[in-house]
Amino acid sequence: MFQALLFDLDGTLVPMNMETFMKEYFRAVARKFAHLIYPEKLIHNILDGTMAMVNNTDPEKTNKEVFWSHFLPRVSLPAEVLVSMFDEFYACDFAALKDCIQPNPLARPLMNSLFEKGFQIVIATNPVFPERAIQERLNWVEIGDLPYALVTTYENSHFCKPRVEYYEEVISYLGVKPQDCLMIGNDVEEDLIAGTLGIRTFLVDDWLLNARKLPIETDYRGSFGDLVSFLRSL
Ligand SMILES: [Mg+2]
Repeated sequence: MFQALLFDLDGTLVPMNMETFMKEYFRAVARKFAHLIYPEKLIHNILDGTMAMVNNTDPEKTNKEVFWSHFLPRVSLPAEVLVSMFDEFYACDFAALKDCIQPNPLARPLMNSLFEKGFQIVIATNPVFPERAIQERLNWVEIGDLPYALVTTYENSHFCKPRVEYYEEVISYLGVKPQDCLMIGNDVEEDLIAGTLGIRTFLVDDWLLNARKLPIETDYRGSFGDLVSFLRSL
């Protein structure tokens, strides 16, 4: 029925309130850089850089390149200082954000059974974060060591959700047809947009996000527990 299963991470595999998580994330980043840059200025420019990634349509530029080319000139600090501090932030300080999420004891047994069945599995998280930050979140739900076909990061991706180009890039990398894929996510806009390409969608609604109150069009819908039963039946 499906060859490839695309999993969103935040609010799907990792139980979390996105708003709380982002608030704590910005608080932690601001604290890290407080001796160098005013928190408001830092956060404003991280958000701006993130929007630049989301709006980018140049397939030649990675999200990382877009972010830094936008962010660096606006904060007037040397690139090597900023880059190494961000690396250190993700390597050390980011781990403390685990307190904002809940465990997901269903995730690892589910993933193991899906790998055994031979699915190509993608961590299709919005690639606005470095690989390190995504690896960390996978570790929080104990699925960081599995042989994924692809984990989308800001280093390896050229587009973000909710652009369809993001999904086109994923399926072209996998070499599969859209109709052979299932996108599993909790965000009505960012995850269900995959459906416009012919990718089938499963909306996990425990931590449902629908910021723009869009009409909900999905092939399947349910809790994470329902998702586990659905995938077991494949
Ligand atoms: Mg999500």
